Amino acid sequence: GRGFRPEGTKITFPNGVVVGNEEVVVMAGPCSVESRAQILDSAKKVKAAGAKFLRGGAFKPRSSPYSFQGMGLEGLKLLREVADETGLLVITEVMEISQIEVMLPYIDCFQIGARNMQNFNLLRELGHVRKPCLLKRGIAATIEEVLLSAEYILSGGNYDLMLCERGVRTFETYTRNTMDISAIPVLKKLTHLPVLGDPSHGVGIRDLVPPMALAAVAAGADGLLMEMHPDPEKAMSDGAQSLYPEQLEKLMAQLRKLAPVV
Ligand code: PEP
Ligand code: MN
Repeated sequence: GRGFRPEGTKITFPNGVVVGNEEVVVMAGPCSVESRAQILDSAKKVKAAGAKFLRGGAFKPRSSPYSFQGMGLEGLKLLREVADETGLLVITEVMEISQIEVMLPYIDCFQIGARNMQNFNLLRELGHVRKPCLLKRGIAATIEEVLLSAEYILSGGNYDLMLCERGVRTFETYTRNTMDISAIPVLKKLTHLPVLGDPSHGVGIRDLVPPMALAAVAAGADGLLMEMHPDPEKAMSDGAQSLYPEQLEKLMAQLRKLAPVV
């Protein structure tokens, strides 16, 4: 059962939050940092819902070069500022080696996006930092490939690693991706690492996020990474899959019936 993993990796964050413990750790926030007001409002709502991490991209891997690419360094500063103001931890995506040093002072956890799961040079470099990483499953990656990518980070000496199922591309078009819930117990069996679920990118449709979040936790996920926006209609990225703050609040209560949640 959950928690019976004496050898399992536990990652302790600065404020005492532990991932890989009995509690399911929730990381929530907008897809992108868009402005001070937007990220502060997001942080307040994430905190009110009882989650521990604020997520938000400052460097965004957009399919189109003409789409919003993120606020960059300014976004990192805003994340840190509002997270400190509200008492949250920061997780945000690193896209390339040159960003690592820039990001270190502002963040609590590096997120390696699906598109970079096999950016082996980036992974190798992250093996040398002493900051936790969350590695997302690639868009069409097998579980074996996820494990091998994880090895790039672990073999460099960075053992504070979490894995994250975020859906893979299949023939199905109704959902944005097909969230492979079975990857969660498989990864938990094959590794000692905490495994999280990202139902937002997993399905791409906000009303399908709560049931898949519950499914991920029922399948043994150690945490969830989810998009929530104070005003999803105005979101600069991934608005359609971003929860309304009230939905996050309600979901947290449902999750607590399944497992202890922080
Ligand atoms: C994100 O978390 O906003 C993101 C870009 O996710 P993924 O890398 O899973 O597509
Ligand atoms: Mn997104």
